Amino acid sequence: MSTSHVIIGDGIAGSSAAETIREADPDADVTVITDEGEALYNRILIKEFAKGKLPEAPISIHEPEWYDERDIDLQLNTHVTGVDTDAHEVHTHTGDVYEYDKLLVATGGTPAQLPVDNADADGVHHFWTFQDARNIKEHAEQTDQGIIVGAGLLGLDLAAICGAQEIDAHYLMRGNRWWRYALSLDGAEILHDAMREKGVEPVFESGVDRFEVDDEGHVEAAVDPDGNRYEGDWAGVAIGLDFNTEFLEDTPVETDDGIVVDEYMRTGVEDVYAAGDITQFYDVILGERAQNGAWGSAKEQGSVAGTNMVADSDAEVDGSVEEEEEFRWVSTYSVTHFDFPFLSFGHPTLGDEDAERKYGEREWRRLAFKDGKLIGGVLIGDLSQQSKFKKLIREERPVADQKEMLLEQDVDMDELTEATAAQAE
Ligand SMILES: Cc1cc2nc3c(=O)[nH]c(=O)nc-3n(C[C@H](O)[C@H](O)[C@H](O)COP(=O)(O)OP(=O)(O)OC[C@H]3O[C@@H](n4cnc5c(N)ncnc54)[C@H](O)[C@@H]3O)c2cc1C
Repeated sequence: MSTSHVIIGDGIAGSSAAETIREADPDADVTVITDEGEALYNRILIKEFAKGKLPEAPISIHEPEWYDERDIDLQLNTHVTGVDTDAHEVHTHTGDVYEYDKLLVATGGTPAQLPVDNADADGVHHFWTFQDARNIKEHAEQTDQGIIVGAGLLGLDLAAICGAQEIDAHYLMRGNRWWRYALSLDGAEILHDAMREKGVEPVFESGVDRFEVDDEGHVEAAVDPDGNRYEGDWAGVAIGLDFNTEFLEDTPVETDDGIVVDEYMRTGVEDVYAAGDITQFYDVILGERAQNGAWGSAKEQGSVAGTNMVADSDAEVDGSVEEEEEFRWVSTYSVTHFDFPFLSFGHPTLGDEDAERKYGEREWRRLAFKDGKLIGGVLIGDLSQQSKFKKLIREERPVADQKEMLLEQDVDMDELTEATAAQAE
C-alpha cells in the first residue's frame, strides 16, 4: 500500500519536501495544500518586482504542470483549519478532509500588525506574498511620500522599494539604529547613509503611536510616541511574523513562537513533522533551540523533513533501517539593494561575546561568539571571507581567543589553526 504524505504550505520548505518525497518514493501519494492562489514562487525576488526592477515571469518557480508531471496533488486557495493527530486527518475551510500517514507543517509566518489605531488602514502594507508585492508596487507608483516601520531585514526591503520608486520616506525606528540586535552603531551608520542616498530618512528613538487616516479611511500620517507627525499615504510595516500554528491548537504538537522540532524535523507527535520558517528547531551546531528566517535554510529543512518522512514510513512498513538525515546548516541572508554587498550569516543576534572592525567608509565586519565558538556575523562591503567563517562555525572550532586574527582583512586559516592548536595544548 502506498504511503500518504500531506504537506501544508507550498513555500520553499513545503515544495522542497514534496520534491524530495517524490524522488525517494515514486509510489507515495503526495498532497500539497496552500492557501495562496499560486504555486511556489521566489519570495526573495518579490522585492525586486515591487521595486519595478523585474517582471512577473522570472519570479514564479513552479507552474501547476510541475506538480502534475510529478503526480503531486496541489490544492491552491485551500486554508487548513484543523488537524486531528489521533485520526491522522487534516481539515480545510471547505470542509474537505485529507487523511495522512505522514504530515508536514510548512506554513511559515504572517506579518504581525502594529498594535496601534488604524494599523490595518487602507495604504498600510505588510509584505510577505506575491500579492502583497503587487499591491505595494501598484500603490508605490502612485505616491511620493511614505512611512516605513520595522528596523530589520524586511524593513530594509521596504526602504529599498521606496528608493527605487522615488518615494521620499521617513523610516521610524525604536532604537538608535537599524537592526540593533546584529549591528553596532558603526555598522548601522553605513546603512543609514545608504538609505539617505535613496531618499529614505531614518528617524531614531521613534516608532508609531497611531496612524492617522483621511475621510475615506486611507492612511495619511504616522504619529510617533513623542507626538511627532510624519506624513505619507503609503506605509510599509515589517515588525516580525506571527507563526501560522492556529490550526494545531487542539493537538498535542508543541508550539512556542513556532513549532518545536528536533534536528530531524520531527515534532513530539508521531507522524507530524515541520520545516521552514515555522520551526523552532534543535540547532546541532549551536547546541540549543533556534529559528532561521531564510530561504536556503527553509529549503534544506524541507528536504531533510521529506527524507525522514519517507525513511520513517519505510521503516514502519518493512522494518528497514534507513539513515535518518540531520539538519546541520549555517544560514545566510544577503542584501543587494546598495552599491556595497551585505551579508549576515549564522546567528548574528545571539552570543555572549563579539568583535568588530571598520575597514573603510563602506566596509565593516562583526563576529558573534558563544561559548568560545564563532556562531554568526555580519559582513558589509567585503564578503570574501564568508566561506572561511562559515567553515569555522560548522567545525565548531574554539576561536574566540583569536579575535585579532579573525578581524584581519584576509584571515589566514593556517595561522589560525596553529594558534588554536597552541591554545589547546
Ligand atoms: C519580501 C521578502 C524578502 C525576503 N528576502 C530574503 C532574502 O533575501 N534571503 C533569504 O534568505 N530569505 C529572504 N526572505 C525570507 C524567505 O523568503 C523565507 O525564509 C522563506 O520563504 C520561508 O519559506 P517557508 O516555506 O518556510 O515559508 P513560506 O514561504 O512563508 O510559506 C508558507 C506557506 O504556507 C501557507 N500557509 C500558511 N498557513 C496556511 C494554512 N493554514 N493553510 C494553508 N496554507 C497555509 C502560506 O500562505 C505560504 O504560502 C524574504 C522574505 C520576504 C517576504
